[in-house]
Amino acid sequence: MAGHSQPVTVVTGGAGFLGSHLTDRLLKEGHRVIAIDNLITGHLTNIEHLAGNENYRFIKQDVTQYLYVPDEIDFVFHFASPASPIDYLELPIPTLKVGALGTHNALGLAKAKKATFLLASTSECYGDPLVHPQREDYWGNVNPIGPRGVYDEAKRFAEAITMAYHRYHGIDTKIVRIFNTYGPRMRLRDGRVVPAFIGQALAEMPLTIFGDGSQTRSFCYVSDLIDGIFRLSQADFHEPVNIGNPREMTIKQFAEEIIRITGTKSSIEYRDLPVDDPKVRQPDIGRARKILQWEPKVQFEEGITTTIDYFRQWLARAKQR
Ligand code: UDP
Repeated sequence: MAGHSQPVTVVTGGAGFLGSHLTDRLLKEGHRVIAIDNLITGHLTNIEHLAGNENYRFIKQDVTQYLYVPDEIDFVFHFASPASPIDYLELPIPTLKVGALGTHNALGLAKAKKATFLLASTSECYGDPLVHPQREDYWGNVNPIGPRGVYDEAKRFAEAITMAYHRYHGIDTKIVRIFNTYGPRMRLRDGRVVPAFIGQALAEMPLTIFGDGSQTRSFCYVSDLIDGIFRLSQADFHEPVNIGNPREMTIKQFAEEIIRITGTKSSIEYRDLPVDDPKVRQPDIGRARKILQWEPKVQFEEGITTTIDYFRQWLARAKQR
């Protein structure tokens, strides 16, 4: 700890979907935030409301390059990474580099500043899981050389180096395994199922289900996720913790819900299932309940309605431009 009263916190990936929501929460908690992002998948519109905030600074930088931050720092939240399947298929090497070199640099910064480090890891560490729901002690079923391997293995390496810094350098580290999360500030065209289906529904285009739609996902609203992550940053616990919403549904059910809630006339179209697409995914959140006294509060209908409204407004603004 830097020994001053206002915590100073670095957020890598600070202009991304999660990094920007995390920043808002940290500012609300009284932190001074230094956000770092190279904007390859993050966007300045996510942080434009912070312009002029004296507790906020933005540095445009690739975290795979040496990180120079002169300030004393209390926390490093490492959230930089392409995170949608389309993004990491288009950016395989940057994805591997940010998970490996970027995590190394972010840990080095935490070590130099004696700061607490929190890694944004992922349910992709479980791959196409053979255990259901997924508990943190499950080691996963990952294809290292498949197209998703660039993300999965980068994050698994990131977890390994984080534990090594904890064990060998005594750094206070935390690891959150983030399950599917949705909400305002997702990119409409990032390829993930939530913006994809909402965008298609609002444009009255067919919703594109990959495979037969029997694969499942469990969707967590962003404010719930950020609350779990903030609690984890304050906890004395170093093993990975799943944060997600256990309410599981098939992708077909999800498409039907989007059609119902938006009231669109869109139909459903079936496309090929991407390689290694996990068949099921649901977090076991027993550990988060016990250690963080955390569980999600936002109901699906409420969260998805807010998200649909966000995309409606975003599209209306885009039309004006
Ligand atoms: N998916 C789909 N149609 C789309 C986009 C995604 O059916 O237009 C499916 C995808 O194959 C996966 C699920 O929705 O089974 C969730 O995909 P997403 O890209 O959101 O992330 P993932 O959970 O696979 O990391």
